[in-house]
Amino acid sequence: MNDALELNYNQWLELFSKWNEQKFRADQICQWIYARKVFNYHDMTNISKALREKMSTSILFTLPVLIKQQTSQDGTKKFLWQLNDNKYIESVLLNHGSYKTACISTQVGCAMRCSFCATGTLGFTRNLTQGEILGQFLMMEKLNKADINNIVFMGMGEPFLNEDNLFSVIRVLNHPKMRNLGARHITISTSGIIAGIEKLSDFEIPIRLSISLHASNDELRSKIMPVVNKNYPLQKLIDALKFYKNKTGERITFEYAMIDRMNDSPENAYELAALLDGLQPYINLIPLNPVASKPEYKRSSDERIKNFGRVLKELNIEYEIRKERGSDIDAACGQLAAKK
Ligand code: SAH
Ligand code: SF4
Repeated sequence: MNDALELNYNQWLELFSKWNEQKFRADQICQWIYARKVFNYHDMTNISKALREKMSTSILFTLPVLIKQQTSQDGTKKFLWQLNDNKYIESVLLNHGSYKTACISTQVGCAMRCSFCATGTLGFTRNLTQGEILGQFLMMEKLNKADINNIVFMGMGEPFLNEDNLFSVIRVLNHPKMRNLGARHITISTSGIIAGIEKLSDFEIPIRLSISLHASNDELRSKIMPVVNKNYPLQKLIDALKFYKNKTGERITFEYAMIDRMNDSPENAYELAALLDGLQPYINLIPLNPVASKPEYKRSSDERIKNFGRVLKELNIEYEIRKERGSDIDAACGQLAAKK
């Protein structure tokens, strides 16, 4: 049976045309789902009863089931969802007053096994479907009782290893008749999957790109991000990013988790600046969030983070020191592990 969240706009059009229904039915149904977050046909009152009944027996809504919701002292919310096959994933809602960002998962677990990341300890189970990725966002909007301004694919999993579903999700989110979310409000974060970066260079929707770098040389990166750096070592990654930047004109953000005595020396900062030379980078310095199973990885001191920043400033590299958000409920970057 079809699933409502697996359909894009053209597929809704095709379906209604097959049923000899008028085209505007597609607009109506997308309005109910993506603007009003109504997920049961019974409440779609501008659609005839007969059509509602036909739909309810042929197109399902399989949404992620909310198992647990936690709220951090700083207003960050974490959602634990159960999927159809009893797998669990998490999503996070970041609150900056009325400005809200949803952090969404793309896979159950992750195959990249980055050594400082809770999701990495889980290993990979499976990709999420288009409907499961959209479902997290729409359910969060429904629970939030208002639209969420931004979406970042920075939850569990490596988005570019689930590229087909990721791109179809973005098309649905951006489509004017569907969620109509602006391209500038959508960000992909990747550990550095070059094939995905190349595809994004040709993608028709100019979304934002963020690279999880975390190291200033290959030796260090292979230690903390072994899987991705084996396949896509730094120089290849940098070349792909230069290609992307030239092709799209987009500025790239880099994530750099500050790990005590591992990657946070002034030398690392100089090396990082040299590595990114010519890319006009924007760097987020993220104090490492603690992961219970990884006690050997510690957050850099404020002093070391500041000193790192001073070097970048001297070299005219723009950066920001990020505040930890939601770490008291394990909702911060790298802490998602979908524990029941
Ligand atoms: N797999 C993608 C998307 C997940 S994003 C990626 O890695 O980019 C999660 C972000 O949190 C990434 O930037 C990741 O490198 C970072 N991260 C992982 N573990 C972390 C930790 N313990 N502290 C701070 N950031 C962490
Ligand atoms: Fe996967 Fe990203 Fe965590 Fe690495 S940091 S294990 S790529 S989720």
